[in-house]
Amino acid sequence: MDVEDKQSDSSMTLPCGRINVLLPIPVSQYYEYLNEDLSLRIGDLVEVPFGKRYLPALVIGSVEGQVEISKLKRVLSKYDLPRIPEEMMNFVVWVSAYNMVSPGAVLKMVLSAPQALLPPRRIKAFVNAFDMQKQGVKLTSGRKRVLDYLADNKTRTVQEIIEFARVTPAIIRGLQRSGFIDSVAITEKNLKDTPKTKKVVTPVFNLEQGKAVSKLLNSLREQTFNVSLIDGVTGAGKTEVYFEAISEVLKQEKQVLILLPEIALSQPFLHRFETRFGFRPGQWHSDLSGKMRNQTWRAVFEGEVSVVVGARSALFLPFSKLGLIVVDEEHEAGFKQADGVKYQCRDMAVARARAGQFSAVLVSATPSLETLINFEQGRYNRIPLNSRYGVADLPEVKAIDLGKSNLIKGQWITKRLVNEISETLERKEQTILFLNRRGYAPLNLCRVCGHRLECPNCSAWLVEHKSISRLQCHHCDYAITMPSSCFKCGAVDSFHAVGPGVERLEEEVRFRFPSARISVASSDTLSGPVRLGEFIKAVQDSKIDIIIGTQVIAKGHHFPLVTCVGVIDADLGLAGGDLRAGERTYQLLHQVAGRSGRESRPGKVFLQTSQPDHPLIKALLSWDRDGFLEEEKRGRKGAGMPPFGKLAAVILSAKDPRIVDDLASVIAASAPYNSGVQILGPAIAPIAILRGRHRRRFLVKCSKNINIQKILKSWLQNIKVPSNARVDIDIDPYNFM
Ligand code: ADP
Ligand code: ZN
Repeated sequence: MDVEDKQSDSSMTLPCGRINVLLPIPVSQYYEYLNEDLSLRIGDLVEVPFGKRYLPALVIGSVEGQVEISKLKRVLSKYDLPRIPEEMMNFVVWVSAYNMVSPGAVLKMVLSAPQALLPPRRIKAFVNAFDMQKQGVKLTSGRKRVLDYLADNKTRTVQEIIEFARVTPAIIRGLQRSGFIDSVAITEKNLKDTPKTKKVVTPVFNLEQGKAVSKLLNSLREQTFNVSLIDGVTGAGKTEVYFEAISEVLKQEKQVLILLPEIALSQPFLHRFETRFGFRPGQWHSDLSGKMRNQTWRAVFEGEVSVVVGARSALFLPFSKLGLIVVDEEHEAGFKQADGVKYQCRDMAVARARAGQFSAVLVSATPSLETLINFEQGRYNRIPLNSRYGVADLPEVKAIDLGKSNLIKGQWITKRLVNEISETLERKEQTILFLNRRGYAPLNLCRVCGHRLECPNCSAWLVEHKSISRLQCHHCDYAITMPSSCFKCGAVDSFHAVGPGVERLEEEVRFRFPSARISVASSDTLSGPVRLGEFIKAVQDSKIDIIIGTQVIAKGHHFPLVTCVGVIDADLGLAGGDLRAGERTYQLLHQVAGRSGRESRPGKVFLQTSQPDHPLIKALLSWDRDGFLEEEKRGRKGAGMPPFGKLAAVILSAKDPRIVDDLASVIAASAPYNSGVQILGPAIAPIAILRGRHRRRFLVKCSKNINIQKILKSWLQNIKVPSNARVDIDIDPYNFM
């Protein structure tokens, strides 16, 4: 049976006999099993034998059957879990069809915590078996503390007793032996929303915010599918506004998902949430421990957790009663998953809301062109917030022309910017210097022969990281120490760094401002929530004067004392043939600029650039976002590029360049000739070799009314791909590398 002809009935118990299941493996078909005696319904999760393994499987429905019954394998058991809701099953099928991946691969993302399918662990606990009033027994103080703690006749775990009564396990064992307490087995506590501990702080909204809140709540109360864009300048209170929507949905006793592009940076967000709601939301991201992962997954499924803050993958959690998705910083490229199952999380979030017939809220100060066009064409609502909350005005932005600045070699901070930083230091305010390059230097070159240190697995330079004495490839995990002599000409100690990364910029800042307190903020220095938390606190407590940061510092943070922002190289993001390079650079610089002067002290922003007349720079100088977008729109429309046309990439790769070229010719030869469809390529991908694989790329471009998936399917389905080569499809590609 083709996966698209799903059975529609859902709640009835299926008769015993043949059933179809979907397995979490990348195969585009259902498998038939025999259900002898289990009471199964569509959406149940069961365990089945598959080859030599046992796999979880999703029950799709009864089936007429083609396999001889004696050959059918039996469903082993049903997991003690709720059913996957029908809307989630529909979503899995839709995601699979849209992104052209097998539904099993999508199911695998849903079943991302396999241990969580099993019943929660049983653990040992104790109850009181002793009446203290009646007995005249003399007790040691430790024993007495335990019995006092258990006097309310509640069951407590060993851990709880140890912590609360401050005793050793030996004392607990002793009490049990003497019959004072009884041991019982309990189910390990499921994760629930932490109980409300703190007082909830609700804001008083200003006029504009108030309007935004009521508009948003009106959309929610329709209790049907709709999409709202909260489009507001940085610091306008967008978060406060969508918190009201969350509050409303919680009153309806439904679940909420908040998607953030960089979950590693979410600690301050979690604090803020807790201040507003009085409890901590569940979290979902790749750094969770196995145990937390399992507990969260199960608790979300069982409806015990009402709010999840998560990264992309949280979209595939099996929510039992999801009622709202918020996509914060919806324009962020981080929402595009470019490895494995490729999908644009923001767009899939909208599809998820459609499947469940509830609201999606997209939030940004610099919305993506896609989203704005969806608004302009009437598909989304727009909720504007045009002024910063409180007294804060947008900071003044100035360009510094690098062509006229007489920078000497090895220095990157112009005199003008140095002066501004000095003045900021004198006012005891803070500066952010933004350079979106990790490490010390992006390139090392042999002084004698010009040899460049490159990754042997990728077409990429090795990036020097002095802090760990390593040269690293940022595309694979290749790393070496600095070679003492050149591989090519043998010259000794001949490599020298070209261009700055944040570590190198730090050297210059220390040299120029020896008494300033300086901190580098990049994904290397702020890995993990603890370090990030410490960093943020240090900035807020005025323990840092100058922050040198990559994009990790650009977003979301609210630092009242930052009044000077210097962008070291505003042209950096513009190179490269990426369709969205301009849009992304604009968004990033706009975000960075928005860090300055967020409270009562006025802020300034300086963009060092060699193209001060570039339309993008000019738009930044006048905070003319809409002017920039109009330009961008015109360009994309003219080229028929998204969001005005559709685009997909077909990427071929193999370790052997001949194999990939042969495959490319075969595929090129069978390219379809449809009117309105343009096929570009095969071209050598910009990163021609990635992790040792040679890469070729086709781009397929067509108008909006054409079903691009269908075109791709009929083109590629009969191509024989050699086992040592791969063909990947990327619908709406972002990364043009
Ligand atoms: P955005 O998400 O638009 O960047 P935030 O929601 O982070 O803006 O708001 C910026 C700052 O202003 C935050 O510190 C926030 O708590 C504060 N703020 C915004 N609106 C209000 C309000 N109505 N009452 C109190 N504080 C507010
Ligand atoms: Zn590499």
